[in-house]
Amino acid sequence: AKDRGRNRTSYFSRDLEAATEQRVRIARELRSALADSQFSLHYQPIIDLRSGVLRKVEALIRWQHPTLGQVSPAEFIPVAEQAGLINEIGDWVFETALTQAAQWRRSLHPEFQITLNVSPAQFRAEDAYLARWLQRLRAEPLPGRALVLEITEGLLLDASASPEQRLELLREAGLQVSIDDFGTGYSSLSYLHRYAIDYVKIDQSFVSGLERDPRALALCKAIIAMSHALGFQVVAEGVETGGQLALLESSGCDFAQGYYFGRPVPAADLPDSLGRIEQR
Ligand code: C2E
Ligand code: CA
Ligand code: CA
Ligand code: CA
Repeated sequence: AKDRGRNRTSYFSRDLEAATEQRVRIARELRSALADSQFSLHYQPIIDLRSGVLRKVEALIRWQHPTLGQVSPAEFIPVAEQAGLINEIGDWVFETALTQAAQWRRSLHPEFQITLNVSPAQFRAEDAYLARWLQRLRAEPLPGRALVLEITEGLLLDASASPEQRLELLREAGLQVSIDDFGTGYSSLSYLHRYAIDYVKIDQSFVSGLERDPRALALCKAIIAMSHALGFQVVAEGVETGGQLALLESSGCDFAQGYYFGRPVPAADLPDSLGRIEQR
């Protein structure tokens, strides 16, 4: 029994060691990824459920490393945050999305919007960080409304991030704000009314339970009713089936996004992807 215990410990610590090594390797490789243009953005359609129009996409970062291959953002974003590299990567995401939004506003629709993910560390950065974004935006013939920033709900409770003040600055510049993964964080519904936000995004863990768990449906309905009462629109993420879509539509959800409509695709493939969805 003693031996087995010891073995288990060593297996465990070996796993841990391997995981740590992988993180150290990723952090090292991330430093050259920007300079070597290894990042790209993929875009996933967000559909307006009432009208069926497609005028929003979420930008999701992709990293193609020469030997590691495709590394998932779920794996490297947390490492980038710990290694202090997220602000620089975030600047690249902002700049790329900004350029793309200007292009699609000309070629697809004048009201086209790109939503991008903003890490808590970026939101907490010195005032100059977000101020630079707003400055960049002013230099473009592009309204702030072309971009939507997705932040997580934990930030709203973090006084050190001065959320009220920062959200107001962003909104003054015309940018819209969305609360990502809603329902998975500190979810105190009562604080939401204090903030100037535009969208609440229902986390995919609730959407995936819609057809089998009556409580997941009750939860989605409650989030939708509460959001509407406070003047926010609701986006459901991770929609994979027609059944989930039907339940969301009958619950009054405003927008939906997920593999059911389309996967995230490179910028060049997006117009085709939108065309296919519109034809259905
Ligand atoms: P997220 O913001 O919650 O993004 C949704 C994730 O769900 C994406 O994974 C997307 O590809 C995936 N997804 C979309 N539709 C479906 C569906 O129908 N079913 C399922 N099972 N999944 C679906 P992805 O692209 O791997 O990104 C993972 C996470 O990495 C994101 O979660 C976000 O937190 C982070 N991330 C991605 N891009 C960026 C970025 O540019 N900046 C920052 N800070 N974080 C990013
Ligand atoms: Ca997101
Ligand atoms: Ca999300
Ligand atoms: Ca998520």
